[in-house]
Amino acid sequence: MDIHEYQAKEILAGFGVPVPRGGLAYSPEQAGYRARELGGEAWVVKAQIHSGGRGEAGGVKLCRSDEEVRSYASTLFGKNLVTKQTDAAGKGVYRVWVETASDIQQELYLGFVLDRKTERIMIVASAHGGMEIEDLAEDDPESLRRMVIDPAVGLAEYQARELAFSLGLFGGQVAQMVSVLHACYRAYRDLDAMMVEINPLVITGTGDLVALDAKMSFDTNALYRRPQVAALRDPAQEDPREATAADNGLAYVGLDGDIGCIINGAGLAMATMDMIKLSGGEPANFLDIGGGASPERVCQAFRTVLTDRNVQVVLVNIFAGINRCDWIAKGVVQAYKDVGLTLPVVVRLAGTNVKEGQEIVRASGLPIVTADTLAEAAQAAVAHRCTPVAA
Ligand code: GDP
Ligand code: MN
Repeated sequence: MDIHEYQAKEILAGFGVPVPRGGLAYSPEQAGYRARELGGEAWVVKAQIHSGGRGEAGGVKLCRSDEEVRSYASTLFGKNLVTKQTDAAGKGVYRVWVETASDIQQELYLGFVLDRKTERIMIVASAHGGMEIEDLAEDDPESLRRMVIDPAVGLAEYQARELAFSLGLFGGQVAQMVSVLHACYRAYRDLDAMMVEINPLVITGTGDLVALDAKMSFDTNALYRRPQVAALRDPAQEDPREATAADNGLAYVGLDGDIGCIINGAGLAMATMDMIKLSGGEPANFLDIGGGASPERVCQAFRTVLTDRNVQVVLVNIFAGINRCDWIAKGVVQAYKDVGLTLPVVVRLAGTNVKEGQEIVRASGLPIVTADTLAEAAQAAVAHRCTPVAA
């Protein structure tokens, strides 16, 4: 789960990372007021969306008066900001962060990630920050420093100092960097984060380290024990289809193709998507209906899949262990009535109560195409695109 920059800054500041002073605004007027409240002569106005690359996309601006803050903020609110990291629709701006502008001498990159190879938290840092880590890895891989943290020991002092020196820091900056590293590591570990990124971490005109940007994302499986983190979830930043699906106990990810998929189990879902591609088609989504799916949940799955207007055929592929084929079949039949299905549906059922399930499909008299194997089901789905089945 991602959170906003201002939330990440507040969290990191609580662990001891220096951040600029700032205030949140929900309207252009409030943004102007925040600037006056903060005082000073220059402010940075930043669109709060769950994405990086805002600077390049016009979502970050240095302003010289509270009126400029207000008028720039008014161009952001309610707009969708499209960045390199969002899809073509972008993400809606409903909150704006106004902060005291910093005097930047140098931009560093600092990230904490989970390295799956070593199964440990890894620090990635560079003396050449500001650009995205992907670009940095492409353009300037030599500048990247990596350091793995032993969970039994934690981040050792000598490691933190070594990293600071390797970035070319000296004097008081080394102690500041060591303190920032410890703070990020503690925040990461204590809050079950998956990623902490400060880009840029800047050296100011007075030689001090300040986090100008902050990004954190969290392990959703640990949210049950981090209620303060869970409370930071912002549904406005999520794909509404995925959010609604999650609320209904379905794991849904929208894709670009035209074959809607309703499948049980993530593994079978992946295999089915591969089989669709092998048969010359493109899946419109990933959808794992989960175990013990009731007819109602099946109906909800149809509703979710059909919100995507590109869908031309729906493929239901169930290998029932915990699930029951008769319940799934009832759900498919009910979806015809409740959801007003007009598209062709291909159903492949196997496992628990498969005979009962097939009988329900047959007895319904509905134009449901049945298949016995995964390969047949995928081929049938590809063949039935744009050709509504006659009743
Ligand atoms: P991102 O593009 O979404 O990663 O947003 P950032 O918060 O990283 O801001 C983008 C860029 O805006 C930074 O790399 C800085 O160069 C610039 N920027 C942000 N805050 C300030 C500031 O206080 N002063 C100045 N001069 N530039 C800033
Ligand atoms: Mn940034």
